[in-house]
Amino acid sequence: MIESVVEGIRWIPGRDKFLPDSHVYVIGKPSSTDFTLVDCGLMEMGSYKLEELDNFGIAPEQIKRIIMTHTHMDHIGCLPELLRAIPEAEVWVHDEEASYLERGDDRIVFGNSMFESVIRSQYTIPEGFFRFKVHRKLSGDEVLDLGGISMRVIHLPGHSAGSIGLFNEEHKLLMSGDTIYADGAIGRYDLFSANPSDLKRSLELVGDMGIDILLPCHNRIVRCGADPMVKNTVDQWSPLLGD
Ligand SMILES: [Zn+2]
Ligand SMILES: [Zn+2]
Repeated sequence: MIESVVEGIRWIPGRDKFLPDSHVYVIGKPSSTDFTLVDCGLMEMGSYKLEELDNFGIAPEQIKRIIMTHTHMDHIGCLPELLRAIPEAEVWVHDEEASYLERGDDRIVFGNSMFESVIRSQYTIPEGFFRFKVHRKLSGDEVLDLGGISMRVIHLPGHSAGSIGLFNEEHKLLMSGDTIYADGAIGRYDLFSANPSDLKRSLELVGDMGIDILLPCHNRIVRCGADPMVKNTVDQWSPLLGD
């Protein structure tokens, strides 16, 4: 079920299968006709999200863009399915991963050859399935007005090269992608384009942000008072992640 987090920010929880299905966040004030999706989810997991948006009264043509926190399979797998339903939506991705998508280079999407063979054994993935036009390449530090909600793009490399977070200053709210989760967990740092030293710096940046609401892409969300948990997580992991 779609849930409101604060006015103008809604959460569609992922439905994990044998692989995780990322959460999707929906940004845009209720009075707006300009909505943004953050992330998509696993292969074949688009239709229930479209139904939930429809139930909530958000028409496909009101979804103006899809921003990817990064381009791993559990986040981008159903982008082709969503774009069939909302072909006018733009795709916005950090510059570091956009060039892979535009070339159809799917090494970041799959992460490693083990995941690639598991996924290919479960789904039919034609050549060029993960080649996309990227309408806007984000660099970090842009302040976006998304249907009346202000979100700052923060480049958080480490889990993948072009991982980003989206930060709302008013609510001290961070959509953290797979960089940091609730309950002491962080994103893995062994997949293609990952880098533990970069992840350490990204976590330290997040630890200094004074976050109140933490909206990761997996598992539970933290609706208030996230800062001590975030700082603890950073303190625990930082020494293990190198220089
Ligand atoms: Zn990921
Ligand atoms: Zn993920």
